[in-house]
Amino acid sequence: MTTDDRERRVIDAAPTGLFIGGTWRAASGGRTLAVEDPATTDTLCRVADATPEDATAALDAACAVQQQWAAMPPRERGEILRRTYEIIIERADELALLMTLEMGKPLAESTGEVTYAAEFLRWFAEEAVRIDGRWAREPGGKGRLVTMKQPVGPCLLITPWNFPMAMGTRKIGPAVAAGCTMVVKPAQQTPLSMTMLASIMTEAGLPPGVLNVITASSAGKTVGPLMTDKRLRKMSFTGSTPVGQRLMEQAAGNLLRISMELGGNAPYLVFDDADLDLAVDQAMIAKMRNMGESCVAANRFHVQQGVAEEFAARLAERMGALTVGRGTEATVNVGPLIDGVQRTKVAELVDNAVDHGAKVMVGGEAPDRPGYFYAPTVLQGVPQTADMFAEEIFGPVAPVYSFSTEEEALAAANGSDYGLVAYAFTRDLGRSIRVMEGLETGMVGMNKGLVSNAAAPFGGVKWSGFGREGGREGIEEYLSTKYVAIDA
Ligand code: NAP
Repeated sequence: MTTDDRERRVIDAAPTGLFIGGTWRAASGGRTLAVEDPATTDTLCRVADATPEDATAALDAACAVQQQWAAMPPRERGEILRRTYEIIIERADELALLMTLEMGKPLAESTGEVTYAAEFLRWFAEEAVRIDGRWAREPGGKGRLVTMKQPVGPCLLITPWNFPMAMGTRKIGPAVAAGCTMVVKPAQQTPLSMTMLASIMTEAGLPPGVLNVITASSAGKTVGPLMTDKRLRKMSFTGSTPVGQRLMEQAAGNLLRISMELGGNAPYLVFDDADLDLAVDQAMIAKMRNMGESCVAANRFHVQQGVAEEFAARLAERMGALTVGRGTEATVNVGPLIDGVQRTKVAELVDNAVDHGAKVMVGGEAPDRPGYFYAPTVLQGVPQTADMFAEEIFGPVAPVYSFSTEEEALAAANGSDYGLVAYAFTRDLGRSIRVMEGLETGMVGMNKGLVSNAAAPFGGVKWSGFGREGGREGIEEYLSTKYVAIDA
């Protein structure tokens, strides 16, 4: 066992049961699943492995309090979120350590995610009291048209492992603010950040049954019965596009309201009039945040011919200078990937690009050490026929492609099934406007490599999904509009 005393205390503080109706309990069959440290492959602890019956019990608990919760004054719902925000900020160090242990990202990045996650709770605490409706005169002049917003009802929220707390609060915050109850199913690799959040929300005064958390080794089988249960009214999913497609098919049978935050394949455009220092600095953030395991990670660097070679060389120098290691060490910039499957996929994509003629400028291999590490890698001269042009890499690999004209750049950027985010670097105002309008994505980083912000509507188009999380739009996903006709 390589965990030290402080790490052990943080792990031991995280609940390992299922959180149903305000109490922690073992899975009905008594089974558990292991939570691994991806930097060492050691087992950190075991958590309950829910059965489909446990999932139904969680929905029972959510349904039992839905009406009561919807009736709670918005200010009180908001204050629970605000108190949760404050506790999270107070305990940011321990929460960040817990996240690093189960997910691998360096401590500084975990601290950044904890703050980002808490911001959604602060934002939606403020939105809870701004739910309103409209009053209008009927065009014929006789009647009145009145609209009101009401909570959609019990929700199923499914989250991924890459941002184990923020992907949760982006859904839980608006659901709580809107007056919905919920069952949350975190990713099996990273359940502890979510169980810890549930425990903090309880401390902050969230009534039993509003938030229920089930951890499971077999997601499809466990939540399957909920997807066909007519008491469920909404499902919000963040994860891969193929799983999202499968869930949409199931949701169709039950006519569920759905939000889909799916995969990305972000283009990063650098024009030859760009501030190259800025483009390289921001590339390090757009590529290396979360070791590249981010839906908004720059997946394709499209650089104009005049600066392509210099950009690739400068990026390779910066990537080569990063320190790889266990994220708990202060000097480490790059942690391990989440598991062996992910590392194999990254290695295969790099090998495939090299087979297609790409040149490895730095990295290109897995270091010889325990844990699921992969070296920061820059590839130059990658042809668009390489698999990584169309696929999400989800690792610390930066392929550089080149283009000659603005039209060519836009065509390459849009030549993807995905449309989550794109980044563009240019100092020409006219070009900025043409490019931001021409990109087929839900978000654009203009001379900026980071778009995530609790106050902004995060989401994609095309195969990256639909629905928005954060901003004023975020709460709408959890509200339905009722219209009342009044004769006057
Ligand atoms: P994933 O394999 O799709 O899993 C996501 C979640 O869905 C996990 O909780 C998983 O549980 C669960 N799941 C898997 N199969 C299921 C099924 N048949 N029915 C119900 N739930 C099921 O994705 P991932 O590998 O964790 O996450 C990476 C992906 O998420 C990437 O494609 C990334 O781009 C995307 N992502 C998108 C956004 C966005 O906002 N657009 C943000 C972050 C990540 P298990 O853990 O048990 O498999």
